[in-house]
Amino acid sequence: MQLILLGLPGVGKGTQAKVLASHLGLLHISTGDMFRDAAEKKTSLGLSAQEFMSKGQLVPDEVTINMLLERISENDAQKGIMLDGFPRTIPQAKALDEALKNRNSPIDAVLYIKVPEVELLARLTGRWTCSECGEIYHTQTNPPKKEELCDLCDGVLSQRADDQPDTVSDRLNANREWTEQLVTYYEDFSKLHSIDGTGEMEEITERLISVIEMVSAER
Ligand code: AMP
Repeated sequence: MQLILLGLPGVGKGTQAKVLASHLGLLHISTGDMFRDAAEKKTSLGLSAQEFMSKGQLVPDEVTINMLLERISENDAQKGIMLDGFPRTIPQAKALDEALKNRNSPIDAVLYIKVPEVELLARLTGRWTCSECGEIYHTQTNPPKKEELCDLCDGVLSQRADDQPDTVSDRLNANREWTEQLVTYYEDFSKLHSIDGTGEMEEITERLISVIEMVSAER
C-alpha cells in the first residue's frame, strides 16, 4: 500500500506513522527526519534546509521533491510506503502522483488526522525528542522516567528548534493554509479519510488501522 498521513504539526503523525509502518510492513518516510538527519550530518542539502526549518518555513519544493523521489525509488520502498510530512504543497502532491503512476502503484489513502488547535499548541511546546534515537516525549502526557534522558537509550533529550514557542505559532499558521489545499486536492480524488486525533495514542492507532483495513478490502 501507498499511504499518506496528513495533519497539522503535533497531531501525532510521526508517532502513528512509525507504529503503522511497522504493523503493516511499509517503509516509513518522514521528510522532516530526512532534513534533520542531513542537517546533523552538515551535508549541503541539510545546511540549506536548516535555514528554512529554523524559521518554521517550508523547504523549497524543488529540493524536497528531488529528495523524496530519490528515496521512493530505492529498493526498500518497493514494499509500500507510509509518508509522513510529505506532500505539503500541491506541486509536491502532483510530483508524487506522477512518480507513483509511473510505477503503477497509486496512493491508496490519505489519512487526515484532526486535533483542535488549542490542544496542538499545548502539545507542541511540550514535545522533547531524544537526540540519539529520535524517541518522542511530552512533559505532560509522556514524560521520560529520568529528567531530560531517554528511557530507551539514555540519550539526552532536546527540544527541536521548531518546537520552541515562538516558532510554533508561525508553523501552525503556515501549515494550516497548505493542509487545507491538500485536503481539497485529495478529496477531489476521493482518497481522503478524516480521523479524530484526540484521545489515547492506542485508540488513534486503532481508528487508523480500521480505515486502512476498509481501504484495503475495497482495493
Ligand atoms: P516535520 O518534522 O515534518 O514537522 O518537518 C520539520 C521541518 O522540515 C518543516 O517545518 C519544514 O521546514 C521541513 N519539511 C519537512 N517536510 C517538508 C516538505 N514536504 N516540504 C517542505 N518542507 C518540509
